[in-house]
Amino acid sequence: MKFDVIIIGGGLAGLTCAIALQQQGKQCAIVNNGQAAMDFSSGSLDLLSQLPEGSAVEKSAVENFAEIYPHFTKLLPHHPYTLLGKEQVLAKAERFEQLTQSLNLDLVGSSKENHFRVTPLGGLRRTWLSANSVPTLPLSQAEFPHKRIAVLGIEGYHDFQPQLLADNLKQNPQFAHCEINIGYLHIPQLDQLRNNAREFRSVNISQMLEHKLAFSELAQEIKQAANGASAVFLPACFGIDDQHFFNSLKQATGLNLYELPTLPPSLLGMRQRKALKTEFEKLGGVLLNGDKALRAEIVDHQVKALYTQLHQDDALYAEHFVLASGHYFSSGIVADFDRILEPIFDLDIIGYGDFDNDKRLSWTKDRFSAPQPYQSVGVKINAKCQVQKCGEILTNLYAVGSVIGGYNNLELGCSSGVAVITALTVAEQILAGGK
Ligand SMILES: Cc1cc2nc3c(=O)[nH]c(=O)nc-3n(C[C@H](O)[C@H](O)[C@H](O)COP(=O)(O)OP(=O)(O)OC[C@H]3O[C@@H](n4cnc5c(N)ncnc54)[C@H](O)[C@@H]3O)c2cc1C
Repeated sequence: MKFDVIIIGGGLAGLTCAIALQQQGKQCAIVNNGQAAMDFSSGSLDLLSQLPEGSAVEKSAVENFAEIYPHFTKLLPHHPYTLLGKEQVLAKAERFEQLTQSLNLDLVGSSKENHFRVTPLGGLRRTWLSANSVPTLPLSQAEFPHKRIAVLGIEGYHDFQPQLLADNLKQNPQFAHCEINIGYLHIPQLDQLRNNAREFRSVNISQMLEHKLAFSELAQEIKQAANGASAVFLPACFGIDDQHFFNSLKQATGLNLYELPTLPPSLLGMRQRKALKTEFEKLGGVLLNGDKALRAEIVDHQVKALYTQLHQDDALYAEHFVLASGHYFSSGIVADFDRILEPIFDLDIIGYGDFDNDKRLSWTKDRFSAPQPYQSVGVKINAKCQVQKCGEILTNLYAVGSVIGGYNNLELGCSSGVAVITALTVAEQILAGGK
């Protein structure tokens, strides 16, 4: 089989790149072997939340990306944002915001300023884009606009803890003026799930409710449990495919309902991935789901063919290849006992700071909560996102998303931004002819 572009990985990075290419008439195939990080994420997308530990700047928490950029590039010379440059990063961030609008992803936020989202533990976290159903506040806002808040859990459901959320929420100055009460919904339709705690998860709950068989009873139960509160926080268990179910509940109750991410799986992230996947397929893209890229044939610094689990003899061919296989979580990067590697092409890798692949002791820091060097490891790219193997650039193989190394995405809170910005950069490179 031959395509214009073959993308390995169908997470945020792979799908974003594939949509941008497919929109311009390139025939793309995505080889994808499993769920993506988005299916487990909060559904809020981070551009850059924090500068690295020990930065000698006044404030390490990021408000405005453009303002902080000069410090950032000095501290993180190998970060994809530094390699691509400020203009490129901001242009691609804006382009992604437009894409999410055209796909009706119901996101709020802007690359011009981070906002706070309420976390399931009742903290406030800086982020770039959040679902409009999630409680958020501008960084400058002194008070949450509602005074009486009800945090409602679901009886027997352990992946969302109202008391913990309420207790922590009160500690934030923006919620100090609020009266926060908790309550539990029973929802009799879920009794069948309650018999097996392992199946009492957000996905099962939403599937059970999606046919809206007792919808008005559910709306009534929420109204009663809210007990006059003007804002109601619920676990994100209502609506698996998109936000329609949640919006209907909002309308039926007449209340300011908000949903919060639960322990994974996360409906907020899954909805977004579904929308991207549907768009890719609508544009005529080919999704080879359940297949795994294994190895490639490389001739004269170019990838010629890709062999997968289902195409072990009969290779896949393309002019360009994009590696969007994710980080450790998705096995895009793997750690053996004595080496961290990229398993499909065995590409050159890079870490942040003192990381040295040959010195295992440099992979970790003693302090458990410190940013761990192994987390910064990924493939090395140039300013065009081309990768290298044994020191030589592979001209038609690009990396996008969290498979890229040189920075610690957990510490910086920039993983989704890197995913979409590198994805759109690579799409542009390929459309311009590559090389
Ligand atoms: C648990 C978790 C929670 C997170 N929460 C947030 C959050 O709240 N906000 C935020 O901004 N970021 C969050 N992130 C960061 C997240 O990684 C990025 O936002 C982004 O989704 C990464 O996208 P990606 O496409 O690079 O990788 P992934 O989403 O990991 O996708 C890689 C895909 O490649 C596939 N793949 C891997 N190897 C192969 C192969 N050999 N053949 C075929 N397919 C392959 C995998 O199956 C997977 O589907 C979270 C990450 C994790 C792991």
